[in-house]
Amino acid sequence: MTEKQIVVLGAGYAGLTAATRAGRHHRVTLIAPETRFLHRVRQHETAASLPEHRPALAEVVRGRGVRHVPARATGLDLAARKVFLDTGEALPYDTLVYALGSRTAWHAVPGAAEHAYSAERAAELGERLRTAERPGTVAVVGGGATGIELATEIAEAHPAWRVRIVAAGQVGGWFSARGRAHVRTVMTRLGIEVHERHTVTGVDAGGLDTTGGRIPADLVAWAAAMEPHPLAAEAGLTVDPAGRAVVDGHLRSVSHPEVHVIGDAAAVTVPGTGTLRMGCATAQPMGRYLGKLLTGRTDKPFAFRYAVQCLSLGRRDGLVQLIHGDDSMRPSVLTGRAGRLTKAAIVNGVVWALR
Ligand SMILES: Cc1cc2nc3c(=O)[nH]c(=O)nc-3n(C[C@H](O)[C@H](O)[C@H](O)COP(=O)(O)OP(=O)(O)OC[C@H]3O[C@@H](n4cnc5c(N)ncnc54)[C@H](O)[C@@H]3O)c2cc1C
Repeated sequence: MTEKQIVVLGAGYAGLTAATRAGRHHRVTLIAPETRFLHRVRQHETAASLPEHRPALAEVVRGRGVRHVPARATGLDLAARKVFLDTGEALPYDTLVYALGSRTAWHAVPGAAEHAYSAERAAELGERLRTAERPGTVAVVGGGATGIELATEIAEAHPAWRVRIVAAGQVGGWFSARGRAHVRTVMTRLGIEVHERHTVTGVDAGGLDTTGGRIPADLVAWAAAMEPHPLAAEAGLTVDPAGRAVVDGHLRSVSHPEVHVIGDAAAVTVPGTGTLRMGCATAQPMGRYLGKLLTGRTDKPFAFRYAVQCLSLGRRDGLVQLIHGDDSMRPSVLTGRAGRLTKAAIVNGVVWALR
């Protein structure tokens, strides 16, 4: 144990993984408001009112040399090396690990933030779906992985509701031809109405205005995009145009090397792989690497290659898309029950690997 004070902001896949490893050698203080692990990749299951699998943070960090402070960071003084908390406390640090992740981006679409449910409000959406006097129509905005998982999960769990998925482009358009075809087959089987090339321009209590016309809906779920937490830019870390903190090969801020940035908050470019996309798939390896770097078990730059992209498509189906190391598609996919079980094993493995 050293006297070095490491403060980790955020207990998501990146922050919690880094904290439990760094705690072996340093005094680590972990700042995050929640007492149970968020486990964002399962939030669509919460919208479908499925049981939650979220370990207590106290249980994950037990015996790891990590002190969890349930609070929110409200500001950073990078010159004085201090973090300000909503409890009024100011915490000094020698090394800061910034892992505040991302959140739903509304992209200033009028009415979206007021009338739509984001993944962060999945429990409220699930409650509305479950307790409505009469089932109606729910529109899921976003044809990316989160939108697809949300729409299929809701359609399977709430068959009395009519489910529509609305996308500016093609639903699952980045998958291989086989991957796209499987997503479409499952959506047809679950009775999901697909509205592609409809950019949403407004949301109100009765549904969506889109470039392709009006789409009525009693409830709207918003899964169109994610944006990084704004604190990095507000504090003065160098960020890219999307607001992600730019880091070097050792995941240090290029403007403030005593600050490491990992997970969705970081703009990481790996030679031969490219700029990494936001994802649990990239966040947890960054946390693991940083844990090793901070405990002197490596001095090499961060390396990363992709292997698969996985989707759950309800509880009985899934898609595992094989990809090249640079995130481009291979033609092969695993579907159906085999795809579903593989995705479930990966998600369970994520929690196991936190410890
Ligand atoms: C429904 C859904 C399904 C997904 N499925 C997949 C998938 O299959 N595969 C995949 O790769 N990715 C998936 N993602 C994306 C993935 O969840 C994120 O990319 C991932 O969570 C990023 O991890 P992170 O550790 O960077 O941050 P996060 O998981 O976002 O964690 C951020 C942490 O910061 C904390 N925090 C926030 N603000 C403050 C503050 N002011 N002070 C202190 N703490 C704060 C939070 O409470 C949390 O502990 C999915 C996302 C959603 C919403």
